[in-house]
Formats: sequence, C-alpha cells, structure tokens
Amino acid sequence: MSTCYIPKTVEELGGALGHLTEDSLILAGGTDLVLHLRAEHLQPDVLLSLCGVPQLRIIEITSEQASIGAMATMAEIHKAMDGLPDLQALADAAGGVGSPQIRNKGTIGGNAANASAAADLPPVLWLLNAQAEIMGPGGVRRTISVQELADGHQGNTLALGEVVLRFLIDRTAFTGWRSAFVKLGHRSQVTISRIGMAMALLQAADGTIQDARVVAGAIKPVPFPLPAAEAILRGKRPDPGLAVELGETFKGNTRRVYKENAAKGVFQDTLLRFQP
Ligand SMILES: Cc1cc2nc3c(=O)[nH]c(=O)nc-3n(C[C@H](O)[C@H](O)[C@H](O)COP(=O)(O)OP(=O)(O)OC[C@H]3O[C@@H](n4cnc5c(N)ncnc54)[C@H](O)[C@@H]3O)c2cc1C
Repeated sequence: MSTCYIPKTVEELGGALGHLTEDSLILAGGTDLVLHLRAEHLQPDVLLSLCGVPQLRIIEITSEQASIGAMATMAEIHKAMDGLPDLQALADAAGGVGSPQIRNKGTIGGNAANASAAADLPPVLWLLNAQAEIMGPGGVRRTISVQELADGHQGNTLALGEVVLRFLIDRTAFTGWRSAFVKLGHRSQVTISRIGMAMALLQAADGTIQDARVVAGAIKPVPFPLPAAEAILRGKRPDPGLAVELGETFKGNTRRVYKENAAKGVFQDTLLRFQP
C-alpha cells in the first residue's frame, strides 16, 4: 500500500522529499502521470502530491523577471503572459496545449520534468534562457538552466527526491524583444506537436530584425537552437517569403522528409506573427 504525502508549504515539501525512494512518484496535475499509473499498473511506495502547496502556483511578473511556479497551470500561464511581447511565446505554447481540461490541470513543472520530445513548453523555456529552481530533501536548493534540466533522452536530470519549484526568466535580457510559438500537429486542436517553433526577434521601428533567436522542438529528443536561421533573419524584415530559405536550415536535423518541407510552412506562420 502506498503512503501519500500532501505537504501544505514549501518547508513541509522539503521534509517530505526525504521520504522518497526509487519506487516513489511525484504528482503534479496528473495529466501525464495518471495515464502511466493506469497503463503500467504502477504501485509506488510513496506518492507525493505537489497540489497542496499554494506557493508553487504563484506567477510573479516584474519588469526585470518572470517567476513561474512549477504548479502553475497552462491556463494560468496563458492568462498571465498573453499580450506581454517578450513572453508571448510562453502564452502561445501554454494556450495551445491539449484541451481546456488539460490546460486547467497540466502544469509547467510536469511539462518540463516529463521531458517528452513533443512537449510544447521546453522549446520556449530554452528560447527565453529560463532557469529552473530545484529543491531536494531537507529543502536544499539549487538553480540550473532548463538546458541542464533535460537529460537528452526524454528524461530529466533531477536527482532522487528533487522537484522543480519554479522557473525564472530574466526579462532584462529581452527588453524590446517580441516572441512567438507556433506548432504543427496532425489536427488543429488537442494535438501533439510534430514541429514546435519558438522565435524571438528584436526589431527596429521599421521592422528590420536586429537580433534573432530560434529554437525548434518536437524534432529531436530535446529542443535545439537554429543559429543558421537566426543568421538569415538578422538585417532583414520578417517577410514570410524568407520561409523557404529558413526551411533549408532544417536539413540534417530530421530524418523525416515531411518535417523538412513542413518546416517552411511553420516558419511562414511564425514570421507572420512579427509583422508590424
Ligand atoms: C489529451 C492530452 C493532450 C495533451 N496535449 C499536450 C500538448 O498539446 N502539448 C504538451 O506539451 N503536452 C500535452 N499533453 C501532456 C501533458 O498534459 C503535459 O505534459 C502537462 O504539462 C503535464 O503536467 P502535469 O502537471 O499534468 O504533470 P504530471 O502528469 O503530474 O507529471 C508528469 C511527470 O513530471 C513529474 N513532475 C511533475 N511536476 C514536477 C516538479 N515540479 N518537479 C519534478 N518533477 C515533476 C512527475 O513526477 C511525472 O513524472 C497532453 C496530455 C493529454 C492527456
């Protein structure tokens, strides 16, 4: 029989983490985990629920920083970020996850920790150079980049008894930038990404691109930057006609020919988001 811990504070959580073993499970919104529990008939010795810790849900946005609690849901993230130019990609990605039911339960912590290749938020977290604040048994904390959080094989690098507390984005590094996320799936709603395109541009008043960041998701086990695409964009306007040239930068990154072709269309849709 499992023991279930439902800590109410971050301090209680630190204590509960010390009880976890290799056979324990951590529950956030449950949209991924419950499927595994049922399908694989998992019987954890300890089930630790993060649902009772209100601090983990807090989203705090100042002009300097965005702090997003690991238990913030997709719906909450979309509501908080929509309309903020530098953070728009996060609103786009969260707003496009699953169905309303999934967005009301699924959390950013679960999305990043689950580390599916097709997960929508990791490419955006990479784009915005997010940091993950982590807590382990006894409340010991450390901060790593989201790139370090991914183990490269659709898993995470968290040690036994560690959880993500929150994600931090340094907004001062993106002053004047706009960002967007566009995904391609096999249908328009409740769809798993076949390509996820996260783009951030710093544009002059006439639209000329002064600097660009591009990160692709759902192609490899972890997101990856496309420096060749960024170089093409610099000095130009976000003309959707650039999509063909940008699509060429996908070559060699995927064995699926359709994704090479489809990337052009995804680039086109993404560039349209940056029209003046
Ligand atoms: C119908 C359906 C549609 C979906 N559509 C999409 C989609 O469009 N895009 C997309 O990206 N995903 C999608 N998903 C997947 C899922 O909803 C998301 O990945 C969601 O964000 C997971 O969050 P959760 O809180 O439910 O995680 P859970 O299921 O609770 O946990 C997932 C994993 O992460 C671990 N974990 C959770 N939180 C933490 C933490 N703070 N620290 C450490 N480990 C943690 C858990 O232990 C578990 O191993 C879909 C799922 C379903 C069922």
